[in-house]
Amino acid sequence: MGGEILVPQPTGNTREFWEGCKGKKLLFQQCEACGHVRWPPSNLCPVCHSLEARWIDSSGRGRIYTFTVYHVAFHPAWKDKVPYVTAVVELEEGPRFLSNIVDADPRTLSIGMPVEVVWEEAGEYFVPRFRPVG
Ligand SMILES: [Zn+2]
Repeated sequence: MGGEILVPQPTGNTREFWEGCKGKKLLFQQCEACGHVRWPPSNLCPVCHSLEARWIDSSGRGRIYTFTVYHVAFHPAWKDKVPYVTAVVELEEGPRFLSNIVDADPRTLSIGMPVEVVWEEAGEYFVPRFRPVG
């Protein structure tokens, strides 16, 4: 690690999510009407259009849905981290979440691999990343 730290800038519907991250909680909205767990946060359930939702605390466990390995840093904050892995993780609760896979050799990763959340400090927040389980 090293270089600049990117600090989250919460807006609108993401404020509650980032408040959770201050306490290392991975929060998703769950529809009160149909139970669908969604990401990103929104006012309306994309399945049943209900406006009623609560925030649930995710297990932080999931699987790699897809990933790519970056060999060029597209932001100065990442220059000391190449090669780094950007992945879509499908959480146990259902949402597909864009993040990074850390603590792993990119060559050992595969689609469907079980992963768990790890927290990277960024100012007053902790940013969710994922690492392979076991
Ligand atoms: Zn719904």
